[in-house]
Amino acid sequence: MKDETIVLHHGHRRDESTTSVTVPIYQTTSYQFNSTDHASKLFSLQELGNIYSRIMNPTCAVLEERMTKLDGGAAGMALSSGQAASAFSIQNICHSGDNFVSSTDLYGGTWNLFNNTLKEMGIECRFVDPTKPEEFENAIDDKTKCVYAETLPNPKLNVFPISEVGSICQNNKIPLIVDNTAAPYICKPLQHGANIVVYSTTKFIGGHGLSIGGLIIDGGTFDWEKAGDKFPMMNSPDPSYHGAIWSQAAKPLGPIAYILRARVILLRDLGSAMSPFNAFTFIQGLETLPLRMERHCSNAKQVADFLNKHIKIDKVIYPSLMDGVHGDRANKYLNGGYGSLLGFELKDGESAGKKFIDSLKLLYHVANIGDARSLAIHPASTTHSQLSKEEQLQSGVTPGYVRLSIGIEHIDDILQDLDQALNKT
Ligand code: PLP
Repeated sequence: MKDETIVLHHGHRRDESTTSVTVPIYQTTSYQFNSTDHASKLFSLQELGNIYSRIMNPTCAVLEERMTKLDGGAAGMALSSGQAASAFSIQNICHSGDNFVSSTDLYGGTWNLFNNTLKEMGIECRFVDPTKPEEFENAIDDKTKCVYAETLPNPKLNVFPISEVGSICQNNKIPLIVDNTAAPYICKPLQHGANIVVYSTTKFIGGHGLSIGGLIIDGGTFDWEKAGDKFPMMNSPDPSYHGAIWSQAAKPLGPIAYILRARVILLRDLGSAMSPFNAFTFIQGLETLPLRMERHCSNAKQVADFLNKHIKIDKVIYPSLMDGVHGDRANKYLNGGYGSLLGFELKDGESAGKKFIDSLKLLYHVANIGDARSLAIHPASTTHSQLSKEEQLQSGVTPGYVRLSIGIEHIDDILQDLDQALNKT
């Protein structure tokens, strides 16, 4: 099946007991075991099956299977938020005393998680500028367990060099984890050399601003066993699961050691499971993701062209309009659709930025991206207002910077609203 068909059909044809075509919301905490033998096999992982909804749920399972298929992975796991997905993706392989390397260009919440919360837990994050991919090599040492990056990080919108850094990771026998929240369907990080993908499903996958959720997709391509002593959490007996060795325990089930451990250890111990109702809303969103992404991308391209010619604007930040290497990377990784995120810098700085936002009539002023509706924010007065001017500039936020997430409305209405608001600045 092609992507457009996968998102509608994979993992569920009809409910076995009711014949329901729509994926049912299995709003249940627990599942009755067939016998004590059956229960014992489930707990010892000799057989995979439902035990308790903190660890697995059939509605969540359809979302997990569809997204895994779409991305070409081996297994997926749904979580209560994108933040939980990012945190678990690291905590599943790093413990206190370890480090990992991350691109500097990250969503602010992830940056805080890496720079502060994980640090307090004894896990060090080393930041590297993604415009210099070769520098990732220098930051890696014996205690480095992975590299983390975002495909299309805003506000800079520099497309991350996935295959270049993927090769560095491969040479150093560590996995590359890519947050593909901003580019589902248009970018397939696993095809370019990433080993694990994380998503905030809150954004484009849900698409309608209804629920908070996250996903981790395991490509199944990283050989944990071969990497040996470097990954004791995968290759030595786990006292919290009757001495299971995850790289061995997963063998009969497929190349899913990473997701298996994340599920039966992290979801079991820390919670953060996705609710079945929220999974249902993400399944509805996913069904139309390819169609929406096409419209998001074509609208955004027209907005970028319009803004590029506007007299009030100094600079447009949009991957396909970027010169040189970033434009080339957009072509290489984003499969022709450059996403719906774009930024622009107003000539008249901060006051113009605020005036623009306050003049919008159609676009929503919200701290979100990836909604079917068009959204706008002025980071210098909102998401980045607690940072010093210098820190704002390092994050790509100038005083007159405005970020847009272009929706799927008629392009004429979007352009008209942008034009009238720009003319008031
Ligand atoms: N990753 C990216 C790229 C994001 O933009 C966000 C949220 O804005 C997150 C992760 C966190 O996701 P959530 O808000 O679902 O926890």
